[in-house]
Amino acid sequence: SQMLAQSRAEGKPTFSFEFFPPKTAQGVQNLYDRMDRMHDFGPKFIDVTWGAGGSLSHLTCEMIKVAQNVYGLETCMHLTCTDMERSKIDNALKEAHDAGCTNILALRGDPPREKEKWEAASGGFRYAKDLVKYIRERYGNFFDIGVAGYSEGSDDNDNVDELIDHLKEKVDAGATFIVTQMFYDTDLFLEWVHKVRAKGIDIPIIPGIMPIHTHAAFLRRANWTKCNIPTHWTEALDPIKNDDAEVREVGKGLVAEMCTKLINAGILHLHFYTMNLAQATRMVLEELELLPDVESPLQKPLPWRPSLGLN
Ligand code: FAD
Repeated sequence: SQMLAQSRAEGKPTFSFEFFPPKTAQGVQNLYDRMDRMHDFGPKFIDVTWGAGGSLSHLTCEMIKVAQNVYGLETCMHLTCTDMERSKIDNALKEAHDAGCTNILALRGDPPREKEKWEAASGGFRYAKDLVKYIRERYGNFFDIGVAGYSEGSDDNDNVDELIDHLKEKVDAGATFIVTQMFYDTDLFLEWVHKVRAKGIDIPIIPGIMPIHTHAAFLRRANWTKCNIPTHWTEALDPIKNDDAEVREVGKGLVAEMCTKLINAGILHLHFYTMNLAQATRMVLEELELLPDVESPLQKPLPWRPSLGLN
């Protein structure tokens, strides 16, 4: 993957930020302001999620365009392939291509909530690997293509080994990097990386890091993904759970410790699930001393305000 070549060459950790399209016009404006500020943190790239079934897809495309061309950030667009017309996929790929976005995270997508059992959508897309193949057929090597990895099992499959076999299929179809589901147990994660490598998968693995904003959100997200919470995390966070500031402070330390362990294990790119918020991610980066020097700030983007993309 080209966007990670530099950190590998320099042996210096890099990081990226994930954002999602907000549901309101005010939310969009706030996010652009935040993106502007977070540009100064120096992310290697930012990515924008794709709403299930293509909801708010125009906004995903617009955010990619703005981040790429106004803020001068390298971008990665998420794209799902099921429960959605093929024209949405075609349009999104074209818009990404035309905006100069060269990275796509190719996903299957979650089953729609109202359906009891997930069914393959029409158009031949059943798994993420079908989308990887499709993008390669249409666009050759224009895009770097990322795929999702699950170090502790996924929503619909807790068999980690089977998931690795399916990950291998996505790589064989043309994926060039892997972004993982959030996790807090670094040992489990590193064991998984070992297994993935043993299967002959040698593309970059980008760990998904979820900073801690509040105790309630921390528990909700960990339970949602069913990821293991190490005992010492629970012991540190439980007694202070009603003090948001203290939770952020202690949580920062725990997440930074986990990142340091990853970096020491040779994982040189960290992907932050920002939840569209700057503070918790900034605190972790500060703790890791990965924020750029205030003495030599990054080049500022043009003071241009994007239009709201909700029309
Ligand atoms: P796949 O890799 O296709 O796997 C889906 C299931 O099919 C797995 O259980 C797998 O084991 C099984 N499977 C795969 N191949 C085979 C086969 N050959 N035979 C039998 N079974 C098989 N969702 C969104 O809607 N929008 C987003 O922006 C988004 N971003 C995400 C980012 C990351 C980093 C991650 C980890 C997930 C994201 N998701 C997103 C969620 C994702 O869409 C869901 O987790 C979805 O349920 C699975 O997608 P996948 O790409 O992993 O699917």
